Amino acid sequence: MDNKKKVVIGVAWTYANSDIHFGHISAYISGDVLARFHRLNGDDVCMVSGTDCHGTPTTERAIKEHTTPESIVNRYHEQYVKVFEKLGFSYDCYTKTADPYHHKKSQELILKLYEKGYIYPKTELASYCNSCKKFIYDREAEVICPKCGGVSKGDQCDHCAYVFQAQDLLKCKCRICGNQTEVKENTNLYFALSRFEDDIREHINKCRKFWRKNSINETEKFLNEGLVDRAVTRDLNWGIKVPLDGFDDKRIYVWIEAVWGYVTAVMRYCDEQKEKGVQNPPKWQDFWYDHKDGSNLCYLCHGKDNIVFHTIIFPALLKAFDDKMFLPDVCVATEFMNINGEKISKSKGNGWPMLDMLEKFDADSLRLYAIANGPEKKDANFTFEDYHAFHNGEIVNKYANFINRTLNYKGLDGHFAAGVVDPAIKTVCAETFKTCAENIKILNFRDAVFNIFEFASIANKYYDTKAPWVLFKQEDKTEFNNVMSTCLYVIANLSVLFEPFMPFSSKKLQDYLGIKQTEWKPVDFVGEKTFGKFEPLFCRLTEKDVL
Ligand SMILES: [Zn+2]
Ligand SMILES: [Zn+2]
Repeated sequence: MDNKKKVVIGVAWTYANSDIHFGHISAYISGDVLARFHRLNGDDVCMVSGTDCHGTPTTERAIKEHTTPESIVNRYHEQYVKVFEKLGFSYDCYTKTADPYHHKKSQELILKLYEKGYIYPKTELASYCNSCKKFIYDREAEVICPKCGGVSKGDQCDHCAYVFQAQDLLKCKCRICGNQTEVKENTNLYFALSRFEDDIREHINKCRKFWRKNSINETEKFLNEGLVDRAVTRDLNWGIKVPLDGFDDKRIYVWIEAVWGYVTAVMRYCDEQKEKGVQNPPKWQDFWYDHKDGSNLCYLCHGKDNIVFHTIIFPALLKAFDDKMFLPDVCVATEFMNINGEKISKSKGNGWPMLDMLEKFDADSLRLYAIANGPEKKDANFTFEDYHAFHNGEIVNKYANFINRTLNYKGLDGHFAAGVVDPAIKTVCAETFKTCAENIKILNFRDAVFNIFEFASIANKYYDTKAPWVLFKQEDKTEFNNVMSTCLYVIANLSVLFEPFMPFSSKKLQDYLGIKQTEWKPVDFVGEKTFGKFEPLFCRLTEKDVL
């Protein structure tokens, strides 16, 4: 095993303006798998995320619903917290960008970068709506994309993902009133992103071997267009106040403070540990400073529509903030999850809210499905028929049934005599831990799950070949006891292997078996055992359940 690592796991922040759906989860779930896997390996993990509260989508929604942005944010934040709890996401800190702690730490970032000269004021022409009496930005603007010609709203093209520059926004339409905007002088703060081009290139060349193709391609495309400085402030009244004079009518632009949330959430977690009186509380620098000894790891898990914010902009901010900062080395960008062959969209009404799905289906089963059929390297498709087949065919038939027929073996009443575990099965088990770990490390989560099911299949075949129901009738029970001991050994180890993927059922099983502590290595579960009645971990889904 490697030496103990300091692992930051940053899961993308969900925008507080709509329900969380299965597509989000298929991008975030890798974060929880990685967190649990690294904890099982004895590493120090800090898994963070939060609700992205600021910016125009929230204010737009508030206007539409005749309420305040705060109430929109609180409503969605509560929902997200509930979803992550029900799904067993093991966040060390799940916060929100509207949190005063995050405001304070983001303002400190702006001041520090301003003092270092990486943030500077710049006066330029901007799009002004005369009837709304304000500058028009983000989703308030309807822009024609200069790259592809498509009509988009926001700061990034909906069609080709091109990130709009200031001049692209000059010829736009105000979406609030529908009028053509006019051009007027405006002073904003800018981040000197262009000064970090060499650093970013060097960083990407160092860690590209860990990245998926989509991250590399998207990042290189963006770099090859040349990095340009980006506005840090916006004419808004909802967001984090700018800690410098002359910017009272502006707020810190969301792109900078939302990615900075990966740092502030770790800071918050460490401060909380200290306040709680934890012995030797961690320091945020433990996680975010580069220890230069190979002990750092930082995963950022997000969807493919968010790549350059994680691979270019965030690392540049880290570098600007403090030269000692560790730059995220593993970006886990997930492709899209479609529902019944269509892109999830609110207007189509096909994005099943996650809370509804969790009312109906088992959390572990949904987690595993999101990974095993997840959009790892290409877009994936969710259909209820497919989920149904996966749940019954893999989880119930290969895993749950094996457990049931062993633990509820008729005639034993939970009394298992000691026996010898089959050495061939022990070898397969050890191999599974190894290959599964290798696959997790290179972000092949689907293959990792396949490795475990492969082990379960071998165990099922072993059971059928040995036919314990025949051995049970023999006078000499030695062989029968050996078979049952082997099956118990398999069950105990499957519970550990599945722990990063299906934490609830693994915990239930381990509690039942009396396994108190687990590590990412075969658990030597042997000897005479007595158990109480076992309740099945998973129920079969019927046709009715998936209608
Ligand atoms: Zn475009
Ligand atoms: Zn207007």
